[in-house]
Amino acid sequence: MRKSLLIACSAIALLTSACGSGSDAPVSEAERELGAAQHPKLLAEFGGAYDGDEADYLKGVAEKVAASAGLAGQCTFTLVNSHVVNAFAVPGCYIYVTRGLMSIVNSEAELASVLAHEVGHIAADHSERQQRRSLLRSLGVLAVSLVTGSQQLSRIATAAAGYFTLRYSRAHEYEADDLGLRYLRGAGYDPYAAADMLAALARNQQFLTHTQSRDQARSIPEWGLTHPLTENRITRARQAAKDTGVGPDELPENEAPYLRAVDGLLYGDDPEQGFVIGRRFAHPVMRIGFEAPQGFTLTNSPQAILIEGPDGMRGEFSGGPLPRGGLDAYADRVLSTLLRGARVEIGRAERRTINGVDAVLVPALVETEQGPVQLSMAAYRGGPDQAYHFLMISKPGAAPPALLDALFGSFRLLSAEEAARLRPRRIEVARVGPSDSLQTLAARMSADDPVAHFLMLNGRTAGEPPRPGETVKLVVNAPR
Ligand SMILES: [Zn+2]
Repeated sequence: MRKSLLIACSAIALLTSACGSGSDAPVSEAERELGAAQHPKLLAEFGGAYDGDEADYLKGVAEKVAASAGLAGQCTFTLVNSHVVNAFAVPGCYIYVTRGLMSIVNSEAELASVLAHEVGHIAADHSERQQRRSLLRSLGVLAVSLVTGSQQLSRIATAAAGYFTLRYSRAHEYEADDLGLRYLRGAGYDPYAAADMLAALARNQQFLTHTQSRDQARSIPEWGLTHPLTENRITRARQAAKDTGVGPDELPENEAPYLRAVDGLLYGDDPEQGFVIGRRFAHPVMRIGFEAPQGFTLTNSPQAILIEGPDGMRGEFSGGPLPRGGLDAYADRVLSTLLRGARVEIGRAERRTINGVDAVLVPALVETEQGPVQLSMAAYRGGPDQAYHFLMISKPGAAPPALLDALFGSFRLLSAEEAARLRPRRIEVARVGPSDSLQTLAARMSADDPVAHFLMLNGRTAGEPPRPGETVKLVVNAPR
């Protein structure tokens, strides 16, 4: 407990009741500064902010929840441009919700319940404890970068491992659920929405497991990884809603305004960041693509595609302007930026033509505290003034040359037709017509496994077919 804060708070409480509604841990100035300092870095790592009507709507709902928690005007809520389903809270009451999460939510009350849960983590100081541990982790990263003299190299080594390596404990989850329910109720929403939301998240996880989703290793972990989800939590949330004495249909869930708000929301990968499709990466704007061999995982992040391979092999794919000195100068610049100050032995560069593209391959051996690390780079001339490169690191001898050859040899330019086929998708809210069935609606979906996808997105089971007059969410190709 921070004594000085409590004293200040009780004095203010007399005047404004700002400490009411159960929050006895308001956001301190120091936390707010930490949150503000981290905010742009987190956003850059996670895909940037998604602006527009959906973000404004989210902030409106969030502010009601924050006010109910006694934190009116003290939190910063951001809609994150990522398809991964998650929400997270950072000290200083910086709360992030992904557009992936918004796509599976079905009412304003459900969205409010997620926000209330995250505010609960803030009010109960959980994220501060999590933060302390991740700060220790950051110090570890810093230590590596001091040894190698290269911040970027340590970024490659750690970024793919994800920012939030720690999950909340079950006790923290229960506490955030309980506080969240209080804030949800205080903001005038249906308390049963919390259990509905947890059920939607569970359905999403099942769907991902069944469809072998490619999202498992993205820079943002799924909700279930950071906020462990158990069947018991859903039962518990339903009982807690009953205990409030409110009847199941007494308070509004506000489905209609919610669906209006998400109509048109970007779904899946953002074409500006390129598409990760299984082990394939394709960028319709830059008109490039590559395919990693079996056993590799790709993760789309705004600055680079993070690559994880077998035996701890890690790396990234990125690009930049081609300097006047051509591809050799580009390769030199990438390596010297990466390895500035590091003890390194650079091997002989090899020129190749890969799928009709000029390429240069450079091996290197880097000394680190953990021993020598093998670095393999492949750079490509991607256009008159654009270049791209892979940087892969591995333990010496751990990366079979054939694997790296397959990866480096897969880079190619896309034809205009191929690029045109990579279209962004959006949520479309549609009214169910008299002759519509689950099958006719699923047929309008631009998605793999459309029936299962439709059911997951709309929080339904096959036993609850959509009825005429209802509004449902579809995933469709965005108009050109
Ligand atoms: Zn949680």
